[in-house]
Amino acid sequence: MLQNYMEILLEDVLKDVLKKYDLNCSCERCMEDIRAITLNNLKPIYVASDKGIVYTKLNDLSVQFKADIICQIMAAIKKVEEKPRH
Ligand SMILES: [Zn+2]
Repeated sequence: MLQNYMEILLEDVLKDVLKKYDLNCSCERCMEDIRAITLNNLKPIYVASDKGIVYTKLNDLSVQFKADIICQIMAAIKKVEEKPRH
């Protein structure tokens, strides 16, 4: 089964971001919108499903790569907070 590794990374980085950033609203709808916008702006990384490999790689994320994901998350949060769809 193919998985988009970027989705897994996003969950991880998003958790980090939300520790530092207080969302105006964190309802299901807004969270899904933030995820969707972010993922649409990041290149998908498809991998054959193998959790062992996925979680090993997660620890090796380059600082720059993580910074790019954070940047996209922040842009998505801004968009959703300007025009929430809930
Ligand atoms: Zn909301």
